[in-house]
Amino acid sequence: MFLKSNFSYSNSNSSYSDLLLDIDSGNIQAIYFYPRRREVNVLYKNGEKDKIPILYNDQLILEKASENKVELTVNNSSKESSAANSFASLGLFLIFLVAIVLILKSTSNLASRVLGFGKNKSKFITIEDVETRFEDVAGLPEAEEELKEVITFLKDPTKYTNLGAKVPKGVLLIGPPGTGKTLLAKAIAGESGVPFLSIAASEFVELFVGVGASRVRDIFSSAKEKSPCIIFIDEIDSIGRQRGSGFGGGNDEREQTLNQLLTELDGFPDNSGIIVIAATNRPDILDSALLRAGRFDRKIEVMLPDLDGRKKILSVHSLSKPLSNNVDLGYWASRTVGFSGADLANLLNESAIHCAREESKFINDFHIENALDKITIGLRTSKIVSPNMKKIIAYNEVGRAIVSAVKNGVDSVDKITILPRSGTLGGYTKLNPDEDVISSGLISKKSLLSKIEIALAGRAAEIIVFGENEITQCSINDISYATNIVREMVTKYGFSIIGPISIDSETGDIFIGDGVFKKKSSIAENTYSRIDNEIINISKVSLNNSIDILYKNRFLLDKLVDILLNQETIDKRIFKKETSDFLKV
Ligand code: ADP
Ligand code: MG
Repeated sequence: MFLKSNFSYSNSNSSYSDLLLDIDSGNIQAIYFYPRRREVNVLYKNGEKDKIPILYNDQLILEKASENKVELTVNNSSKESSAANSFASLGLFLIFLVAIVLILKSTSNLASRVLGFGKNKSKFITIEDVETRFEDVAGLPEAEEELKEVITFLKDPTKYTNLGAKVPKGVLLIGPPGTGKTLLAKAIAGESGVPFLSIAASEFVELFVGVGASRVRDIFSSAKEKSPCIIFIDEIDSIGRQRGSGFGGGNDEREQTLNQLLTELDGFPDNSGIIVIAATNRPDILDSALLRAGRFDRKIEVMLPDLDGRKKILSVHSLSKPLSNNVDLGYWASRTVGFSGADLANLLNESAIHCAREESKFINDFHIENALDKITIGLRTSKIVSPNMKKIIAYNEVGRAIVSAVKNGVDSVDKITILPRSGTLGGYTKLNPDEDVISSGLISKKSLLSKIEIALAGRAAEIIVFGENEITQCSINDISYATNIVREMVTKYGFSIIGPISIDSETGDIFIGDGVFKKKSSIAENTYSRIDNEIINISKVSLNNSIDILYKNRFLLDKLVDILLNQETIDKRIFKKETSDFLKV
């Protein structure tokens, strides 16, 4: 093999008889004999090389070579091939070995996950020195007030225990996403100077039964070491659902985890310096055992901020940003009805990004306006729209704006645009939501009917301007939005001639459980068809109302469309100016 690697022999140029002659005449320096391959490799004295076929076990060559003292090497190619063979089998063996190691490794991972119950992988985060303070939380004065007491519990428990009072163990923060629940919990830890152990309840839930329960034990035993401290459990609804409900797997695991949590809550002694704060936006589905006295018996609602709250949150988040002096945060608070604290933080962040992109030094109204558009309407795209399509879109948008102005006042329109945006078909009419509805969560039948008429106004405008047969599906999203509202009015709120009945045929609430299917079958076919008729009826009447409104305001409709086609955007101010004196209600 060593020799072979030194030479490379080309296929034969000479014949067997040439070879014999060459040996005799002493032209050959060395011969390498490969009996198995039935060939010899020949190295000539002039440096040339050759490969010549011979007979199997050719004795003549051997004799001649030894006679003429030619260097002769016999290569036992059976050894060679067996080496190759063993090499191949060694390779196979190695592959096999690696495969087995890999399989074993993954099995042992699995095994350690099953057997170790995720012990070494603690999923909770511990923050020893929390930097958040109440001044970072804005617009939640009531929640803050209630939680201040918790701080005293942690800082100076004797004040209460001396009087024989028990310090509460659990506080449940209830509110929509992004309203600052996590922030509040952190602020309490920060203000009281205690460690903050936090975990999202979804982290408890694992494939294997028992893992969640062991994680609950973990976090509580760690809390006992660190007490006084705060345990924060986010999204507690993901394990805290009413037990004994729901379909499918994972149930046992969830129940076990919840049972463990209840046990731990009961298990740590009163006044031990541990306070469990949990957050949820679905208090309605929580297990009643969790809410019992002695567990999460304090419930604090964290609402979406009102006008004043939004202004305060904006100013908290603008502290770290170079805001231009003439930006009026009160004005932006009025433009952001329904925004959560997280949305507002995001608004200022997007503004800062926009500002940086423009290479300006200060964030001004223009940057905030752009950020607001991006958040509410979507990014601008460079989609090219034909003049004809633009016209259809413009009529759709202006139609909606006019019906909104008639129904909810001129101020309800924030902005109309036909600049193409990603995620929208055509343009966008931004309407201000009703602050009252947002803060109280109550909405009247009249308001819902207005919403339906506004949603169908795009279609109404197309019918008036282009005729029944020329309508497009431009208002597809609005129509489905309107239908959803009508269905809810009829089947949930009892707002129709069918009467005050609730038919919960949606399967969205499947986990709340007690028998969505039973409910379904308890309704007569006849009722279903009445419901359908009622839904169709309300939708048609609403469309006709919109058509009436736009007929009356046809002059304004055409005029605003002209402006919109020219300028692509009509803002609040221009809309008000153009509409106020001409709107026919
Ligand atoms: P939640 O836990 O209610 O879903 P977070 O507390 O996680 O909401 O809020 C997310 C972010 O939104 C916070 O980090 C903060 O920047 C901002 N934020 C929310 N609410 C407020 C508020 N009331 N004051 C100041 N910032 C807020
Ligand atoms: Mg949160």
